[in-house]
Amino acid sequence: MTAINSRLITLDPVSYPGKDIIVDVLRLDKIHPVISGNKWYKLRFYLKQAIEQHKKTICTFGGAWSNHIVATAAACAENGLQSIGIIRGEKPAVLSNTLQEAIGYGMQLYFTSREDFRNKKIPFDNSHESILTVLEGGFGIPGAEGASTILELVQPGNYTDIFCACGTGTMLAGLAMAAAPQTRVTGISVLKNHTGLEKDTRSLMGTSKKDFTVMHDFHQGGYAKKTEALIDFMNRFYSQTGIPSDFVYTGKLFYALDQLLAEGYFAPHSRILAIHSGGLQGNSSLENGTLIF
Ligand SMILES: *Cc1c(COP(=O)(O)O)cnc(C)c1O
Repeated sequence: MTAINSRLITLDPVSYPGKDIIVDVLRLDKIHPVISGNKWYKLRFYLKQAIEQHKKTICTFGGAWSNHIVATAAACAENGLQSIGIIRGEKPAVLSNTLQEAIGYGMQLYFTSREDFRNKKIPFDNSHESILTVLEGGFGIPGAEGASTILELVQPGNYTDIFCACGTGTMLAGLAMAAAPQTRVTGISVLKNHTGLEKDTRSLMGTSKKDFTVMHDFHQGGYAKKTEALIDFMNRFYSQTGIPSDFVYTGKLFYALDQLLAEGYFAPHSRILAIHSGGLQGNSSLENGTLIF
């Protein structure tokens, strides 16, 4: 079992010829081959809470390819906790790589109908006080507070902009709370028509009045959907920078940045921090040969 190692994180500058703009990519993907970087940060205070409250088990929710499910399984295993994953949909004949990996970390899986999943129904007696239940994606105030600590890895005041990919908005909320007053914070939503995202994000920010922006036009068809242009871009970005991305989150983030740069969205001398939030394990759902990395 590989341990989580935040010392492996690097800040990789990407320059855009003729633009005098630098994008620093914070490589949270490097902390672990499976545990997606931002998921570990979102989980850290839930883990702390579980340990302090003498819980034995963390129970959480996700889909068959969920980065959060496998990250929870691995993080619990590392911390001597048990884990339970409640998975959306009927049990398939062949489990996804993600779920096999989660089982490898000792996670116990329950499959529930889409309707029960939507209603966050727990298919066993969870009245037991030894279980801590965490929402899908780690959504919640402890998740956002954990995500705030991502900015301890950099000098946040150096940046004109911080960009990240958004699912639930938990990471965006954390980044916005920890960003310097002069820094613009922007999330690229990977879902189509996720109209509640700004409100959800704000709900995790406590008394912080910090502004943030969500861009809703870079989802490439919707959650876990992809276009040929996105895949081509991810391969090109990898050959130019050596940085791998995933097609659900970070590929859409870097593609959005590329398009915004090309449109002249950023002023000269902008210095942009882009959070590489991990998620590379999700690429294993793609057909072999789709990506060059
Ligand atoms: C879950 C995830 C996100 C989205 O994080 P939220 O806090 O849910 O917005 C972004 N990138 C990757 C790689 C993820 O796995």
